[in-house]
This record gives sequence, C-alpha cells and structure tokens, in this order.
Amino acid sequence: MSDRLPGFSTLAVHAGAQPDPTTGARATPIYQTTSFVFNDADHAASLFGLQAFGNIYTRIGNPTNAVLEERVAALEGGTAALAVASGHAAQVVVLQQLLQPGDEFIAARKLYGGSINQFTHAFKSFGWNVVWADPDDIASFERAVTPRTKAIFIESIANPAGSITDIEAISSVARKAGVPLIVDNTLASPYLIRPIDHGADIVVHSLTKFLGGHGNSLGGIIVDAGTFDWSTGGKYPMLSEPRPEYHGIRLQETFGNFAFAIACRVLGLRDLGPALSPFNAFMILTGIETLPLRMQKHCDNARAVAEFLAGHPAVASVSYAGLPSDKYNQLARKYAPKGAGAVFTFSLKGGYDAGVNLVSKLQLFSHLANVGDTRSLVIHPASTTHSQLDDAAKVKSGAGPDVVRLSIGIEDKEDLIADLEQALGA
Ligand SMILES: *Cc1c(COP(=O)(O)O)cnc(C)c1O
Repeated sequence: MSDRLPGFSTLAVHAGAQPDPTTGARATPIYQTTSFVFNDADHAASLFGLQAFGNIYTRIGNPTNAVLEERVAALEGGTAALAVASGHAAQVVVLQQLLQPGDEFIAARKLYGGSINQFTHAFKSFGWNVVWADPDDIASFERAVTPRTKAIFIESIANPAGSITDIEAISSVARKAGVPLIVDNTLASPYLIRPIDHGADIVVHSLTKFLGGHGNSLGGIIVDAGTFDWSTGGKYPMLSEPRPEYHGIRLQETFGNFAFAIACRVLGLRDLGPALSPFNAFMILTGIETLPLRMQKHCDNARAVAEFLAGHPAVASVSYAGLPSDKYNQLARKYAPKGAGAVFTFSLKGGYDAGVNLVSKLQLFSHLANVGDTRSLVIHPASTTHSQLDDAAKVKSGAGPDVVRLSIGIEDKEDLIADLEQALGA
C-alpha cells in the first residue's frame, strides 16, 4: 500500500465501503431491515447505554446508511456524518441540538424558498427565532448577534441566483460571537466547495439534489467538522450537560470531536424520527460515485448556457457567478474555481408574462420545483417557490417577477441552447 491520501474521485467511489463481509458483494447491499439481533444481554445493554457502537434499530442507524455517512464525511473533510430523510430534516435536527425555546439564529436572506418558510413559520412554533442578514453585507451579520444567538446559517452557493457567499468572512463573525457556522452546501456539493476548509463547523445537504443527482430519491445529511468547542459558557446544554436518557453521560466529554454528529443521532434522529430509508441511501450512494464527472459537466454546460443567454436580445440580465462580468465572479474564483455550479437565474425584458411564457414553451427543460437532476430544469420562482414572499422580499431574495431559474443538466449543451433559442424567439 502506498501512503498517498486518496483523491476526491477515489473517495467518491470507495469511501466507507468494502466488500460485504458475509457474501463478498462488491456494491454496498441494501440492508432492508428494521432491527438487528444483539449478541447477548450485555451487548444489548452496552449499545443502549452508548458504551458500544453498533446497530439497534434503523431509525437510529443502518449499515447501508452508515456507508453513505462515512462517504459524505470523507468528501466534506468532516469527522462524522448523519444521514436523514431529507434536507429539511437535516436542518431541524441540527438546530434542535443548538437552540432552546426563545433562542435566536442568524440566517442569510438568500436561501432555498423552502428553508425561508421552515425558518419563518415552523421554527417559530418551536420558539426558535430567525434573524435575517444580507450575505452581501458581512456587517449585517455582526449587527444581528445578541446574547441569545446560537448559530449562523448560510448557503455556500445561494438559491435561486447562484450567488457565492463569502464563507470565511462569515465564519470570522461566528468565531467572534462564539457560535457555530452552519453551511448548506447543497448547490455546490463538496466537488465545488468544501465549506469546512473555509471555517464551517457544520455542513448540511439536501442529498436530493446534486449528491444523489438523478432526481429519484430524497435524502439529507449533516456533517460534523469536529471544530467547535461545545462546552464553553454553558450555551449548548444538549452537548455539554449530563444526559438523563443516557445514564448522565456528557456527549462532548465522551465523544470529543464527533459529539455533534452523535447528538444529532442519539437525541435528534432517535426522538424526532426522520430516518432515511436504506433503499434511498443505496440510490444516493450510487449517484455519488459519479459526482465529480457529473458536477464538471453540469458546470461546463451551465457556463455555455449562461453565455448564450447573456448575448440574447430578449434577456435583460444573467446572474451566473461563472461569467467574468458577474458581481460574484471574484468570490467564484476563490471558492469554486472548478465551476460556479449549475443553478442560476436570468431576467427577461418582458417581465412576469415573458417568464411564464418561456416556461410553457420550453420542451427539453422540465418545468418543476427541483434542482440538481441529470435533466435540465426550469422554474419561475415568483409564481411558485417564492410566491409566498411579498414583492420586496422576492426582489431581495433574487426572485423578482421577471426572473427565471434554471438548473442545468448533463445533456448536450447544444440541445439545451437550441431549446432556449426556440422558446425565447417564439
Ligand atoms: C432542496 C433544498 C433543501 C431542502 O431539501 P429537501 O431534501 O427537499 O428537504 C435545502 N436547501 C437547499 C439549498 C435545497 O436546494
């Protein structure tokens, strides 16, 4: 064996997996079982008391899911990960470990529309208060910090316009405030950006998007960077204080630099219940094997489509950080040198009606509410994903009435451009 550290593409294929010890199966088997037999009574007791690692019940852990967890932790450079049923489930489980009722977290205003809803309405009913900040104005994060702030949440490449967030600058705000930085890395995937390398303490994903990559399975994941000290100031009692449900153990003291991932599993997933099906874990693992190939093609196609649109007379503007003229191009060069992702927006001179018209004329692009599929997708955010926002909030979050969002797939770029050309011209 050489002592070379495996590269990203090797990890995407191999990390966490080995031939099945019982059957020799080379692909990771789908362990489609709810529960696992204990060796004996002592073994059972030690598993329940967190004195030993092992399988108990698929709501808490499953061997197929464990391969997915190890693989994504390796790709993101974290210490451990926890797979859950969806991206939204990942967000709930993460914040449940950090916030008590009445606490606050600061979130970037430019976010996936579903996250804006979840933070504004569902989390409010838990007593978790979101305070919005502008990812293009780092000082707005500093101003939002209060003694009740428990976390900062941003997207690395932000929905819907594909803008690039200055992760390092916001990480220093989080460090100063003594709170963890959570980065939703869904639109970038670790192939383009590894937020932990830039100061993130926790990474979350909707696996539903580029990691799974084929538009066929929902999933989410939480990656623990192992960088945050949960014991300071008594701010994070779930991690620092004795847990009554586990014979009084303290998670940080017992599990060190993967205590947060453990808390998410043994307190969050166990009690809230959003477990990932092993079948979905298998589908997503298969997707991840080709992540580097797909992501490069997504980005190369996106850039070609963005260039075509920028030169089209019906188009007022294109927001794609990969274009040299884009205001996020500097940040894209720093954070995502391999490509600026495949989700971006453009606006039409004809406004709202032109947006609706374009969506109805496209043939190869599917009109639907998703991103990160092999297929190219289109949506008009103002009438769909962002329709719940008032007009000012729509514009602020990059989803004004004239804006169309694309998620560029891995088809031939000439076919994508031809489809846009006929739809724009007609
Ligand atoms: C889709 C998405 C989510 C939510 O993920 P689900 O798997 O749909 O629950 C969160 N963040 C971003 C950036 C997303 O694109």
